[in-house]
Amino acid sequence: MNKVYRITLIEGDGIGPEVVKAAKLCVEATGLKVEWEERFLGRIAQEKIGQLIPEETLDSIRKNKVALKGPVTTPVGEGFRSVNVELRRKLDLYVNLRPVKSWPVLISPFKDRKIDIVVVRENTEDLYAGIEFNSEDDFFPSLACELEKRGLSTKKEKAISLKIISEENSRRIIRFAFDYARENKRRKVACIHKANILKFTDGLFLKIFYEEAENFPEVISEDYIIDNFCMQVVLRPENFDVLVLPNLYGDIVSDLCAGLAGGLGLAPGANIGKDCAVFEPVHGSAPKHAGKNKVNPIATILSAALMLKYLEQEEKAEKIERAIEEVIKEGKFLTYDLKPTRSDPTSVGTLQMAEAIADKIKSFK
Ligand code: NAD
Repeated sequence: MNKVYRITLIEGDGIGPEVVKAAKLCVEATGLKVEWEERFLGRIAQEKIGQLIPEETLDSIRKNKVALKGPVTTPVGEGFRSVNVELRRKLDLYVNLRPVKSWPVLISPFKDRKIDIVVVRENTEDLYAGIEFNSEDDFFPSLACELEKRGLSTKKEKAISLKIISEENSRRIIRFAFDYARENKRRKVACIHKANILKFTDGLFLKIFYEEAENFPEVISEDYIIDNFCMQVVLRPENFDVLVLPNLYGDIVSDLCAGLAGGLGLAPGANIGKDCAVFEPVHGSAPKHAGKNKVNPIATILSAALMLKYLEQEEKAEKIERAIEEVIKEGKFLTYDLKPTRSDPTSVGTLQMAEAIADKIKSFK
């Protein structure tokens, strides 16, 4: 009998509902039997349920073990803290896996070169934990006193953020990166850091990296200071394989790599923990494009393919990837971002591209 998978579905906001609908269409086209359990998160959850991260959303993900999620808006500089950061923390989704590969698109600056980089980003700590203090905080005077001792005046307005790196969380993400390399027959793992300046925090991350590397002698281990890495990856992206990074660098570097390979519209992601996983695109809610049936759904469709691999449905995941490759190559159903000029009149909408991919999936035996 055909197994029925129960999957939590979070549409998110902004362009979220459009790209999630597209991904759902493609998953269903593979023939996978799915019962989608719809739950809310962020601003929409606040409006409907009165909480940004409702317990019933967390319970659903814990119970089903997998969720497909659209992006959720976080206001810049004010308002609530990131719902995404808090969701990852509450479910202890400590891995952020972001594979980036080149597709046959015209717009990538490296369209003729092979890019196949897997970004493994630590997902729970670092500056990204958002532990910040401004001068109104009770802790500020004691922190300010420490700064003064180190010659940093706090007479003018100042704010302080803490960068937290722990041995335990560094070790598990680094181990994940090496395990991933071993299981997927990848040659190299590179640790990206700024340990020349941040000797304690990034220094600890780097030290653990080389300790763990000893357990994986068949994998080449190397490290790059992040500024040098950025220059090297733009010049020679084909030299890089698996990367492991603390949270904030991972966030920035995954967008950089996505840009090299054709943009955020093509970059999928997975947040993975010991007990459950949430699959979502790297991109955000792009509010200016919301509701216009305009943006590229491929990043979310590829995130759904990662979800199928996690569910050990490799064949169905590969069908999705093959269908995307063929639709891109044929060039008839492409959203604006994959066209050489952004106002190309032949570009199609989100739904039209998703339908072309779904039809292609159905056409495979
Ligand atoms: P964004 O990724 O939403 O958009 C940046 C730009 O990238 C867009 O203006 C658009 O030009 C392009 N883009 C993004 N997705 C695209 C797609 N599918 N197809 C074509 N082009 C695409 O980044 P932002 O504007 O910095 O963030 C908007 C909001 O999203 C913020 O509130 C941010 O916090 C949130 N965000 C959420 C997540 C998440 O939920 N995981 C991730 C990143 C950002």
